[in-house]
Amino acid sequence: MQRDTFVQRRSFLQWLHKRSNPGLIVNLCFIVVLVFSTLLTWREVVVLEDAYIASQRNHLETVANSLDRQLQFSVDKMLFFRQSMRDALQTPLTLGVLHDAVKRFDTQRNARAWQIAVDSNRTLPINGVSDAFVDKTTLLNRDKDRLTNELSAALEVGYLLRLAASNARKEERVIYVSRAGFFLATDTPEQPHDIAPRYYQMVTQPWFTQQSERENRAGAVRWFISPPSSFVGDAPLITASVPIYYDHFWYGVVAMDFSFSTMKRLLVEAMDDHAQGEYQLYDTRLNMIATSETSANRVNHFDANEMALIARDIETDTRGGLRLGSRFISWERLDHFDGVVLRVHTLDEGVRGDFGNISIVLALLWALFTAMLLISWLVIRRMVSNMYTLQHSLQWQAWHDPLTRLNNRGALFERAKLLAKQCEQQSLPFSVIQIDLDHFKGINDRFGHQAGDKVLSHAAGIIASGLRASDVAGRVGGEEFCVVLPGISREHAAEIAERIRVRIDNKEILVKKSTTLRVSASFGVSSAQERGNYDFEQLQSIADARLYQAKQSGRNRVVWQDHDKK
Ligand code: GH3
Ligand code: MG
Ligand code: MG
Repeated sequence: MQRDTFVQRRSFLQWLHKRSNPGLIVNLCFIVVLVFSTLLTWREVVVLEDAYIASQRNHLETVANSLDRQLQFSVDKMLFFRQSMRDALQTPLTLGVLHDAVKRFDTQRNARAWQIAVDSNRTLPINGVSDAFVDKTTLLNRDKDRLTNELSAALEVGYLLRLAASNARKEERVIYVSRAGFFLATDTPEQPHDIAPRYYQMVTQPWFTQQSERENRAGAVRWFISPPSSFVGDAPLITASVPIYYDHFWYGVVAMDFSFSTMKRLLVEAMDDHAQGEYQLYDTRLNMIATSETSANRVNHFDANEMALIARDIETDTRGGLRLGSRFISWERLDHFDGVVLRVHTLDEGVRGDFGNISIVLALLWALFTAMLLISWLVIRRMVSNMYTLQHSLQWQAWHDPLTRLNNRGALFERAKLLAKQCEQQSLPFSVIQIDLDHFKGINDRFGHQAGDKVLSHAAGIIASGLRASDVAGRVGGEEFCVVLPGISREHAAEIAERIRVRIDNKEILVKKSTTLRVSASFGVSSAQERGNYDFEQLQSIADARLYQAKQSGRNRVVWQDHDKK
């Protein structure tokens, strides 16, 4: 049990020695530096990315705000028409010309289609359908009491509509559509033959039907995409409409049409050519309305999955942006349009921009630093390993005898004293064997010094091979050896000595080509148990005295107790 703890303690010391390997420390230091430099670079990258996203947002907001301002003009104009219509309904002008117009209506109201033009240079003509047409649909209503006021109000606002439309660059047409079976539009020709189908087409469009009190309680401006038709042309239009309510009654709808190309022009104007990347305008259902890209093959398209991701991002109102492959997408809702502006920035554009340059420089710096770190690591590693080997070899030489590879005298004494002390503290037995080869001088004389050296190294090999890791063997003189056995009793040490003696005695040693010889040795054993004395030098001198006795009594034997005590 006590011997076990002794062995454990030694192996722990060996482990500690291995762990303090300077190569390991160098590796650790370099790994720490590499990790920190990488972390720092990573942090810079994160900061850079945030700044990039912020700059993308900034660009986008500038463009979106500018587009919004443009659309606000139109929306404001429409709200202005609504207000004018309300005012006219509240306080109708009592002009004779308006009165006459209403009278003319009374004579024509049952015609399939009719037109009342007051002064075609100043106001828009009123185009209408018959009472029967209006009665067919529940959405329409020719309210007798309100009709007179509405007709004269419409004529009045017709002035404004015409005026507004004549100098507008944006709207394709401006319309007032009444539920009472008539409309004013900036694009109606004189004496048209298709008033009834035109009116029918208008009142069945979502921009009209979805402005009822149930559908648009707030009476806000809403945006729609109108499919192409024989009346509006063969391209779809974007229609903004607003309902007109007065005195809790829904009179009709003021609407404005915009072409897709107008939207594109507004978007490109909003970009003001300083912004990089592509801008795209979408409606609320994410149908693309316009793009700032002029050549069709450079437009960024998104597949269904990507579109779903963008839709989800917009739905959850995530600020910032979305990375789709190598493209970065940011978006912004418009205040004056039911839709979003998307900014698409490709990796190519990113690399060409400032952030791209900074990122490349950062990556190069990191790579350079890492390469230099790696090179210096290799150099230092090699230096450390060379120094380590040198230190080991010097240390080994200081402690060992080069011929026998056993501890030299100084090392043996030092280690033996330490072991003796440890055994004394733990009250363990402690034994010493002193060995001297017999008639060694004669071997030198007969076979030469080199043969003598060979015999010495063989004998040392035999001695060392019979010991445990915790035992210490050393060469203490020319052909004298000493073995220190911590934790071993005198009797046991005598057995060990005997075993070594037999093995040396039986060994045939090849000293020269075809010349073998045998050698014997004499042993003296002493132990701390005998007198309770752990002083190594005294124990060694007792063992030496017994060795002398062994020589005296004929050599090749082990003496482990004094003869006179026998
Ligand atoms: P014994 O001990 O049996 O009384 O006889 P011995 O011949 O061994 O006697 P002694 O101890 O006097 O002789 C020791 C010899 O060992 C003397 C020296 O020539 C030889 N010797 C000492 N060191 C070395 C060495 O490193 N190499 C060789 N080859 N011989 C050595
Ligand atoms: Mg001798
Ligand atoms: Mg001797």
